[in-house]
Amino acid sequence: MVTNSTFTQNILSWFAEKSRDLPWRRTYEPYQVWISEIMLQQTQVDRVISFFSRWLERFPDIQSLSTAHEDEVLRFWEGLGYYSRARNLHKASKILAENNEDIPCDYKKLLKLPGIGPYTAGALMSIAFNQDFPVVDANVERVFSRLFDISTPIKSKRSKDFIWQKAAEILPSGKSRFFNQALMELGALVCLPKIPLCSQCPVQEHCYALKHHTVHERPVLPSPKKYILIEMATGIVMRKGKYLIQKRLEDDVWANLWEFPGGRLKKGETAEQALIREFKEETEFEIRPTKKITTVSHSYMQYRVKLHGFFCEEIHGDGEREAALNAAQENRWVAPAQLHEFAFPSGHRKLINHLLKTKETGQ
Ligand code: SF4
Repeated sequence: MVTNSTFTQNILSWFAEKSRDLPWRRTYEPYQVWISEIMLQQTQVDRVISFFSRWLERFPDIQSLSTAHEDEVLRFWEGLGYYSRARNLHKASKILAENNEDIPCDYKKLLKLPGIGPYTAGALMSIAFNQDFPVVDANVERVFSRLFDISTPIKSKRSKDFIWQKAAEILPSGKSRFFNQALMELGALVCLPKIPLCSQCPVQEHCYALKHHTVHERPVLPSPKKYILIEMATGIVMRKGKYLIQKRLEDDVWANLWEFPGGRLKKGETAEQALIREFKEETEFEIRPTKKITTVSHSYMQYRVKLHGFFCEEIHGDGEREAALNAAQENRWVAPAQLHEFAFPSGHRKLINHLLKTKETGQ
């Protein structure tokens, strides 16, 4: 039975011995746990580690985060994607700093902070404050689907309700910090999605899927996501050795990030045609693509994006006129060496990295 004390002892001892030494596990300082939990949403642990360390060097506490400019916060987040997470961290830090508060050890108060939903509030209560709150992430869902041999689809309400209920039932009082992390760690290191390492599992004697020979049928997954393919074109125009970049609108996808002007191809358009049209619509500049730079691919949400990049030149312009802000809140002319000071969506950053590698400037 999963609910007995052998289960708890086994998994806690295993965690004490085998868990990874992750930077946010060293002090359990609530600010650090908060940052790590937000970064870990949608991002793998290995990737988060370097971002987390870099972030803490620049924003070691609520105060330093709250007084930073949003552009800088986004720059430190660049590469993690889902930028609303960074914007919400920033907003929440401002609220806490204005009220002269620390991260509250109060589930309801946590829920009132931007970017903190039931999962993150529970994780903070448990991991930062060691309060008796269950935490169920994708790893725990998988572990439970096998431990309890759950035959209903893992993302169904029925399965989710069952798992949360069990997670609360088996939580040993006063040991939430390590117990919840042990379940997550078991999913990350042993109860792996494709090939679970059952022979190394500290709770194998409690696993119903192992007993029923259904391990490889659990969890019951939804059919694979269908991705939407889109093509975009973007252009780099240079004046006096500087490129035109613009800052996206606040209510837009990739809000407040910087980009080279451009946009999505319409049906029947070539990338060059789309670029000429988009450039005119967004900046009122008439341009001509002069050289294809490269095509990069990236993903966001359910989209798979192909981004075609071009060097362009202005036509019919006097070389002085300012670009219009029809699709942006601000624009600037910046030297290629300054591009690293701005936060770009990943497609544009890939394009910039390509330019750095090839040393092409468009001049
Ligand atoms: S015995 Fe295997 S399937 Fe069951 S929890 Fe352990 S690793 Fe997962």
